[in-house]
Amino acid sequence: MREAASCCTACNLYIHATQTVFGDGSPDADLFFVGEQPGDYEDETGSPFAGAGGRYLEICLREAGIPRERVYLTNVVKHFKWEPRGSRRVQAKPHMTEILACAPWLMAELRAVRPKIIVCLGATAAKAVLGKDFRVTQSRGTFVDVPGYGPTFATLHPSSVLRITGEMEKRRERERFINDLRRVVSIVDDYGKAAVA
Ligand code: SF4
Repeated sequence: MREAASCCTACNLYIHATQTVFGDGSPDADLFFVGEQPGDYEDETGSPFAGAGGRYLEICLREAGIPRERVYLTNVVKHFKWEPRGSRRVQAKPHMTEILACAPWLMAELRAVRPKIIVCLGATAAKAVLGKDFRVTQSRGTFVDVPGYGPTFATLHPSSVLRITGEMEKRRERERFINDLRRVVSIVDDYGKAAVA
């Protein structure tokens, strides 16, 4: 699947990106994390969540007691969308047409991994899976059984927690984010116990 996606030209984003950045993680993962798109660093390395936001997520996962073998990481869009700003490549939001063009890859990953839950990180991922009217700011932390996707949870993207400038506010949001991760895992584990009982 990864090899097939490396040749994808289903939307125009491949033209200015270095490579397809496909999902990565355990094929037996029960937690399926989905973000918006690869960033500048991921575009160069070819690995999702390899930059600062990904490293921050890794730390938060560890703090929440979630081992990597339970996790699969991907994005709703597999190519880096950017705009030039001086010599920098600045991330640009993907359009719904690009998200829809890339949706078959996301569905294929979901069919292959068959996770117990999808965790949407940030507004773009949440809107792609939970619908365009979903607001992470209002409905963060709620579980929704989405037709075609299954049990889904939405929280902030780790990069947006990292970008908070006030120290107190950042610490508070970090705690909330880690608590969201703990909550996801405890519900998945409780569900598993209930299924066995
Ligand atoms: S963003 Fe997705 S749909 Fe568009 S070219 Fe890349 S892999 Fe294909």
